[in-house]
Amino acid sequence: MTNSKKIHNFSAGPSILSPYAIEKSIADLQNFSGTGLSAIEVSHRGKEFQKVMDDACELVRSLLDVPNNYDILFLQGGASTQFYQIPMNFMKNKAVYLNTGTWSKKAIKEAKAYGEVIECASSAESNFNYIPTEFSIDNSADYFHCTSNNTIFGTQIQEFPDSPISLICDMSSDIFSRPIEIEKFDMIYAGAQKNMGPAGVTLVIIKKDLYQTTADRHVPTMLKYDTHAEAGSMYNTPPVFAILASMHNLKWLKDIGGVKAIQNINEDKANILYSAIDESPYFTGTAELSSRSKMNVCFVFKPEHQDLEDKFNELCKTAGISGIKGHRSVGGYRASIYNAMPTESVQVLADIIRGL
Ligand code: PMP
Repeated sequence: MTNSKKIHNFSAGPSILSPYAIEKSIADLQNFSGTGLSAIEVSHRGKEFQKVMDDACELVRSLLDVPNNYDILFLQGGASTQFYQIPMNFMKNKAVYLNTGTWSKKAIKEAKAYGEVIECASSAESNFNYIPTEFSIDNSADYFHCTSNNTIFGTQIQEFPDSPISLICDMSSDIFSRPIEIEKFDMIYAGAQKNMGPAGVTLVIIKKDLYQTTADRHVPTMLKYDTHAEAGSMYNTPPVFAILASMHNLKWLKDIGGVKAIQNINEDKANILYSAIDESPYFTGTAELSSRSKMNVCFVFKPEHQDLEDKFNELCKTAGISGIKGHRSVGGYRASIYNAMPTESVQVLADIIRGL
């Protein structure tokens, strides 16, 4: 008999996916679309996989209301490849970056190899516990880059600035969690492994106009965005399994009502957890209230109650809570409550916090 104990998966990424996506993916691994073959042992050029690719693109387009003057690409190399691919393609002289934590810093580091980086604001002085909102964007720069949700520090941009230049955003850890005004952005990118699907594919939503602004330097064919746009994300062999499972997960999201419906559920889940933390005499949230993430809830013991740590850890373990250890740069706990995380699991954790 398999272990039937319910595990509540709060992992920051790769992270929980819908049971629907897991079940459909397993079925396709065994018999893909009636071929009698596994989805990972047939040609990506065959009509069965082409349908998966078309459906995945269509689901992204309809879920996020992406207008036709934007391309939807499925690339490889993770969001981390975008950190250098973006400046390599689009940075002529200088670009503006908002520094809100580890992932922004990594993007900044890569961009510096291609030109001048203007850091318009940073919350580094307070260990990135808030999103700066008072800053100006140099309109002579080539683009403005920001990170919508800071997975490690548990902060999230609540309202995107009006950028006078191309706005490019890393949405790796909150894409599909809420509606977004796509027209504000020239490019959005996201590693799949939170709200979209398994690791191995990176979603890029890019305005077609952006191809015209390519910087004057040699860019390898594989790293040009229009290479993949022209080839329908099949210039080379795409990560077929990651795209297939993402397609199923996005289908699940569409079936439950799309991003508006999940936004309400996500807000409820975040409220359940943050109110348990705020009302607890023992814990404190690490992010400033106005910057709190609805995806990654970071909290620590108040110094005078640190002695309760072992008891809390044990209660969590017994209840099947998995993956809440905080990132080493923040410490404490991080509960990641992505789209597929059920409200009941969040309630289990909230009850432990309240009952401590
Ligand atoms: N940006 C953000 C906001 C992330 O959370 C992560 C990874 N968790 C990355 C970028 C890096 O993504 P990848 O591992 O796909 O390169």
